[in-house]
Amino acid sequence: MTEPSSTSQIYQAAVVGGGPAGLAAAIALAQAGVATTLVACRVPYADNRTTALLGGSVDFLQSLDVWQRCSPDAAALSTMRLVDDTRRLIRSPEVKFSSDEIGMEAFGYNIENRLLMMAMEARAEELQNLTRIDDEAQSVTADDTSVTIVTRQGQTLAAALVVGADGRHSLCREAAGIGVKRRDLGQSALTLNVNHTRPHGNCSTEFHTESGPCVFVPLPGNRSSIVWVLRPDEANRLQKLDDNALALAAEQQSHSILGKLTVAPGRHVFPLAIENPGVLAAKRIALVGEAAHVLPPIGAQGLNMGLRDAADLADIVREALLTGADPGSDAVLQRYARARRADVFSRTFAVDMANRTLLSDFLPAQSLRAAGMHLLDRVGPIRRLAMREGLSPSWRGR
Ligand SMILES: Cc1cc2nc3c(=O)[nH]c(=O)nc-3n(C[C@H](O)[C@H](O)[C@H](O)COP(=O)(O)OP(=O)(O)OC[C@H]3O[C@@H](n4cnc5c(N)ncnc54)[C@H](O)[C@@H]3O)c2cc1C
Repeated sequence: MTEPSSTSQIYQAAVVGGGPAGLAAAIALAQAGVATTLVACRVPYADNRTTALLGGSVDFLQSLDVWQRCSPDAAALSTMRLVDDTRRLIRSPEVKFSSDEIGMEAFGYNIENRLLMMAMEARAEELQNLTRIDDEAQSVTADDTSVTIVTRQGQTLAAALVVGADGRHSLCREAAGIGVKRRDLGQSALTLNVNHTRPHGNCSTEFHTESGPCVFVPLPGNRSSIVWVLRPDEANRLQKLDDNALALAAEQQSHSILGKLTVAPGRHVFPLAIENPGVLAAKRIALVGEAAHVLPPIGAQGLNMGLRDAADLADIVREALLTGADPGSDAVLQRYARARRADVFSRTFAVDMANRTLLSDFLPAQSLRAAGMHLLDRVGPIRRLAMREGLSPSWRGR
């Protein structure tokens, strides 16, 4: 990676935001031969989240020469177990999926975001046509021929295409004139990592409770990450407990399947929402990651979709440049939006429905859920279809 040589240079692409989606997009574009700049502060990753990388995400990270650097830090997820832990009248059967049913060694791999980001940063450093501007964008202005970015420290740069990877409160999205529909879910996710006395056996277990799922996802060794979706007041109460009391509460929620738990340093609470922008690209600006979609952490879809955004965008821009097309043209943006629309909207809908039927006290909704889980448990072709579709879409929109 190089430092910028001249503030008047026009890049083929500028990525704004250096979270996991932005770094992946910047690496993929630069590796595809696109003269790219990444506008993002170099700061250590700030929370203890982990990501269950599913399906094609690992192949994509491998193609970016990122996975090779961090795979020893990841744990394979070879079994997924869903347990109805509600006290409702109609309860669903327990469902267990094994990756060998669909001929795979693992459904995916769980890794701490901070370690994945370190591997991405190291790869980004190596790329000659990726320039790093260690700053935030203060303004983003699109016109007919390019987009101008002014950073907080006063540097000005221009690009034919801007990739908005600047998260939930995206300045790029605003600059593109794209509105967003936001729905607060009245739920929060408490995240923490634990050591345990019994092995997890590479099985991820999701307990479905009346306030949302609580999932124990394997990490290397006798460690797991916990994403516990709760009412906001309960999440805040648990977050304030001392380590022993929190470990005990998590052990009770896990029905002691992992033995005695010890809490690792760091715990965070994330208020949950669903966000859908009206469109995924406009005015030379394409959105990726949470600038383009926010989902609750159910079924581990968020960053997996963000990585598919990055992969599709890099492919489309590379193909456009090969034909001499302008990478920020309407044709390129529309191609990107078409490629991503069905994946983003269908997954947002599916995750929302799964969450709603879990929270609902309405008996028909509970019956529907139980019937669905029964089919998943018993009917082979439906099981296999659900497993494959849960990993990544079987179709792509382009
Ligand atoms: C509890 C929880 C668990 C999750 N688990 C999973 C999982 O298992 N699997 C999965 O696939 N997904 C999961 N997700 C979703 C996943 O974490 C997100 O999709 C992902 O982190 C979003 O990455 P991003 O790069 O789009 O956004 P962010 O990580 O928010 O990055 C945006 C970056 O842009 C920067 N930025 C903002 N404005 C500017 C600006 N003006 N200029 C420059 N930079 C700017 C910010 O500082 C930030 O670094 C989970 C989410 C939660 C809340």
